[in-house]
Amino acid sequence: MYTNARETAFDKIIMTTAIYTHADCQRHEMGDWHPESPLRLQAIEDQLISSRIDQFIERREAPLAEIADLERIHTDAAVARIRDHAAALSGSDQKYYALDGDTLLNAHSWQAARRAAGAALAATDAVLAGELENAFCSVRPPGHHATPTTSMGFCLFNNVAIAARHAIERHGLERVAIIDFDVHHGNGTEAAFEQDPRVLMVSFFQHPFYPFSGSENPQPHMLNEPLPAYTAGDAVRRLVNDKWLPALHAHAPQMIFISAGFDAHREDDMGQMALVEADYAWITRQIMAVARQHAQGRIVSCLEGGYHLSALGRSVVAHLKVLADLE
Ligand SMILES: [Zn+2]
Repeated sequence: MYTNARETAFDKIIMTTAIYTHADCQRHEMGDWHPESPLRLQAIEDQLISSRIDQFIERREAPLAEIADLERIHTDAAVARIRDHAAALSGSDQKYYALDGDTLLNAHSWQAARRAAGAALAATDAVLAGELENAFCSVRPPGHHATPTTSMGFCLFNNVAIAARHAIERHGLERVAIIDFDVHHGNGTEAAFEQDPRVLMVSFFQHPFYPFSGSENPQPHMLNEPLPAYTAGDAVRRLVNDKWLPALHAHAPQMIFISAGFDAHREDDMGQMALVEADYAWITRQIMAVARQHAQGRIVSCLEGGYHLSALGRSVVAHLKVLADLE
């Protein structure tokens, strides 16, 4: 018997984990050649269904983030740039607008990016209201490379950063943690919070590698762990035990956000690390233990990278099985 539902005094079953997503997130696309494709969300859906865990996880539609929400992290110029260039593509012969060599907009990108940030915001509200213990945002475009001023690296707005700042400014939290296990360094998240010690960021990432940042700790609350190519799960687990967990316990976050990228998977050609599903499950278990000790279990996890479709689907399911106590 699965145990992810708990009984209330009113005998009502409450699901403890929800998935936030929206069909708009599949309408943003950057060309058939591009690895950050709508097929990624479909692969996750397919794996959720075939693993038969979808029936134990609540489904919620992502709302649209308001401009004021985006501007908790991003400059008004950075927000207007996405909005205006996407709008200009509607009804024009031009299909894409290139922000850089591999970050493009289509006519749906503004809407998709607001859904992606909106998912993280709504998940944060629901978790802080006690409706859910935790949530996973199955969204794209991803966010962790988007700095306050610049959308880059397939990312338009920094979904996790926007939600973390929302938790602090709108809900009054004093300490949060952002955990980033994508194969790439979350330079956008670091740029957003490097002057804000209320936010502890812990990460590992392949180095030297795109975006070629993060190898020096600018502040004690930015715990970056650069790792060489071909690093596998045993070394990552040691790093989590030796570096992440002491820092997380010392910070005692009231809520935890995860930049959940799965491109450090052994089968993912975007990077050269060698994690497998069991490593993602193990990392998630450690995060759950910290959250339950300090943060009433509160976790909002947002999809970042992960480009091998089968490995992505399997890794997300491994992550969700832990979040929803379905192991
Ligand atoms: Zn990545």
